[in-house]
Amino acid sequence: MSAIVKGWCPTALRPMASGDGLLVRLRPRFGRLNPDDLDALAVLAARHGNGLIDLTRRGSLQFRGLTQDSHQRFVDEALAEGLADRSDVAHRILVDPLGGSQALLTAARLMDVLAGWRLRDQLPAKMQFAIGAVDGDIVMAPDGDPHEALALADGLITEGRKPRASSPPPRLPGQLAGGLLIGAAFGRLEASGLAALATLCREEGLSEVRLTPWRLLLLAGADESVSHRIEALGFITRADDPRLSVDACPGTPQCTSSSVDTRALAMSLSHHAKGRSVHISGCAKGCARSASADIVLAGRNGRYDLIRNGRADSPPLLSGLDGDAALRAII
Ligand code: SF4
Repeated sequence: MSAIVKGWCPTALRPMASGDGLLVRLRPRFGRLNPDDLDALAVLAARHGNGLIDLTRRGSLQFRGLTQDSHQRFVDEALAEGLADRSDVAHRILVDPLGGSQALLTAARLMDVLAGWRLRDQLPAKMQFAIGAVDGDIVMAPDGDPHEALALADGLITEGRKPRASSPPPRLPGQLAGGLLIGAAFGRLEASGLAALATLCREEGLSEVRLTPWRLLLLAGADESVSHRIEALGFITRADDPRLSVDACPGTPQCTSSSVDTRALAMSLSHHAKGRSVHISGCAKGCARSASADIVLAGRNGRYDLIRNGRADSPPLLSGLDGDAALRAII
């Protein structure tokens, strides 16, 4: 099956059809979540979706397995909880997870201005305003003027230029000055895990979890003394965790473009990565990793293409591998 580039991103109000139903993305409260928010998000995922939540590379939470009916209830409850915004612009604003109160004030001002901006609907689908130190399409300082940012965006739109596409440099789990960065295997959370994290935060006196553009969560104010408890919940706390060597997209049955079970193979492969970067992709689109990897296995017609030092759409070295053959080819 060939890759289909959809050219737009789902939001809370604008779901995207996928192999396991509709998926939506949320970035509540500029990515700053208290334990009650975590509980509410877990309930949304379990009640209206299939309980699976992905961390995205743009600092959002992606909820899966919704239906046409449950999507409306999801939106209603997310709005009531203050976890989604009616103007549907929160996904455009990425605040540096290490940014302080000034960055949040700037974000709030930008959101107000953006919600009423005449060109709002003409913004390129994936364009974001990044506030703080994180890299982004239009970067604002924490005390920057939202109107200047919109004027810059206006110029890009009217001149037909694409915004600079960029990604913040990657980070790994571990201690930062602002807290503890933790990950989830292949960026996948379950509702029960999110609820368990909320309980842990309460018990440890942690008041805030921040979404990041590194597919990691920042436990603000936490230190490594809580690592063993976090690990017991299945989260990743160490930079040398073998699961971090492997990037894998959702694959089948969750994506209609995939014909292979990417995450099952990724779990088998993770202990054989031996320090090499591995990318398991359901198709040539390569959603989980845009950079090249040492080893890429890209699904096609129920089998895998093997690529070395390339991307999911690079020419394969071997083709037609089943999961066992793919495993043997790289260990
Ligand atoms: S790379 Fe994976 S998630 Fe992206 S379209 Fe292909 S199968 Fe789907």
